[in-house]
Amino acid sequence: MPEHLPPAIQTISERLQQFIATELLPREASLATSEAVPAEMQAAVREASRQAGFFQMTQPAEFGGNPADTLTLTVIREALAAANTRLGHLVLGPGPGILHSASGDLKSRYLDPVMAGEKRGAFGFTEPDSAPRPTWGVLDGDNLTVNGQKSYVTGGATADFVSVLVNLENPAGEKLGTAMVVVDRRDPGVILDREFTSMEGGGHVSMVFRDVQVPAWRMIGKPGEGMPRALGNIGNVRLMVSAQATGMCQWVIEFVEQHLRAPHRTGSPLGEREGVRLRYADMRIETYAARSMLYRTARLVDSGENSVNETIATKVFCTEVAGRVVDSAVQLVGGQALVSGHPLEALYRQVRSFRLIEGASDLLRINLVKGKLELDKGRL
Ligand SMILES: Cc1cc2nc3c(=O)[nH]c(=O)nc-3n(C[C@H](O)[C@H](O)[C@H](O)COP(=O)(O)OP(=O)(O)OC[C@H]3O[C@@H](n4cnc5c(N)ncnc54)[C@H](O)[C@@H]3O)c2cc1C
Repeated sequence: MPEHLPPAIQTISERLQQFIATELLPREASLATSEAVPAEMQAAVREASRQAGFFQMTQPAEFGGNPADTLTLTVIREALAAANTRLGHLVLGPGPGILHSASGDLKSRYLDPVMAGEKRGAFGFTEPDSAPRPTWGVLDGDNLTVNGQKSYVTGGATADFVSVLVNLENPAGEKLGTAMVVVDRRDPGVILDREFTSMEGGGHVSMVFRDVQVPAWRMIGKPGEGMPRALGNIGNVRLMVSAQATGMCQWVIEFVEQHLRAPHRTGSPLGEREGVRLRYADMRIETYAARSMLYRTARLVDSGENSVNETIATKVFCTEVAGRVVDSAVQLVGGQALVSGHPLEALYRQVRSFRLIEGASDLLRINLVKGKLELDKGRL
């Protein structure tokens, strides 16, 4: 749990609460429920966050950043989710992600513009079940010819480039392992096959690559490093999703508390009924357990110890708890919670993706056991 935070993080946490109250909530209050956040408002929030020093906390020092440790970022991410504001995602700046070690042209043409906010990348990993073969690339000298498809690229319609997992081979068809390759959206042969939205409102595309010619310098790292690089930062991302999940739980249990205290048509508040209290107790107990796990794991990560399995367990548990907490909240609030525009209706749609993104729950369970039985990683 976030008790006994070091004084420096406690101060950041208090400053963030102030920032949410003065910079985020008043701006959001001026928006209609279904209105998209205008570009000027997005820019204003980013600038305010920069001034307050939050924006830089996910950015490396060489790009003017002031990177924070995992515990600090966990406190920030959880608090932003607990505020349930549509502006929360604008507070922390973009990190380098998979391009973090890019050098030469890859750095100057892609990483630098990303960090300057001039270019935006997407991530192409998931393949359709119908794929005849996973996306592959033939490496011939300084050139790579990419063919294949990716089925679920978030932000792919507007991204400038996509970091794509490619199975490499040489012109003779010999396998060279995997590579992450930067495919520019404007490269001839990049086809946006289908544009779609998922239930929480995210915009995605499926993409086809037909004989796309990519210079070899757009490979991130060496042949064979693709999968480890794709998964390299995933522990941080899984903890990020976990913090969003527990923050969501916090907002929900406070919302339900108000509902249980409010007048009810039966003449007495719902909170006076024992059966309702049992359901509400479970929401609080599970949230407490999830937050305890999240903060323990964040501290473990900062200690530098191997925490692969702990991070997997945290992501599975926190996201599954959030699913149950939001579901119970809908049940206790009743039909009004499902009316379009109700905050629980939006959270109900949002929470479902948490158990699939950055590793489906059951696959993570399988990885955890593999980590223990075969790799002896972490304590779990
Ligand atoms: C909102 C959202 C955003 C996304 N954004 C991106 C993105 O930007 N880039 C990207 O590449 N992908 C993205 N994805 C795709 C996401 O990574 C995949 O949906 C997820 O990894 C699961 O893969 P799948 O959908 O192909 O399902 P499958 O891999 O087909 O799995 C479906 C289910 O089958 C079961 N299962 C599968 N394999 C096993 C096994 N070996 N053992 C036991 N059970 C198994 C599990 O229950 C699993 O949940 C996004 C998904 C969502 C929902």
